[in-house]
Amino acid sequence: MSKLSIVAIPDEVLRAKTRPVTKFDAELQQLIDDMIETMREANGVGLAAPQIGRPLKLAVIETLPEEDDDGNEIDGTRDLFVIINPEIYWTTRETTKGLEGCLSIPGYLGEVERADSIRVRGLDRHGRKFRQRFDDWDARIFQHEIDHLNGVLYIDKLTGPDNIWTEEEFEQMREERQKLKDQPQEHDPVVGD
Ligand code: ZN
Repeated sequence: MSKLSIVAIPDEVLRAKTRPVTKFDAELQQLIDDMIETMREANGVGLAAPQIGRPLKLAVIETLPEEDDDGNEIDGTRDLFVIINPEIYWTTRETTKGLEGCLSIPGYLGEVERADSIRVRGLDRHGRKFRQRFDDWDARIFQHEIDHLNGVLYIDKLTGPDNIWTEEEFEQMREERQKLKDQPQEHDPVVGD
């Protein structure tokens, strides 16, 4: 396996029209394995093929794990998905605002409103059909990745033009809020992919 290099904005491949995957051959399996390795090394929870310079309808996603009372990851609660030619065919009307980051927009976090629950259909890495429902943070990650396959980035969908921060600004805001409230802030999970 080998680590791939991640493309950042304003590279045009991030805006390119993607092609459906039609061949489920050894070359595709290698590409998928390399994408998984690249995502993990970058501490991302998702990586779409355009982000490694390939305009294909393919993304890998690793959902956030459940944690025990001490905040340690519970083994076996992190799920890995390979999604090919995916389509969101149902969404709830309920939405939630949340923070997202992107490996192609390093150093920034922005607020995006996403559907709470979605249903996705597509193919797995062997070309088998799947349909599955995702909720909450998992639903957010899938919406973010499937947007990548349509040339859409989270910065296109900010809740307001100013609702994007550098990681340093965000840390500062968090500390100030903490001082004001004088109570521990709930840790917001961040989608980094
Ligand atoms: Zn992204």
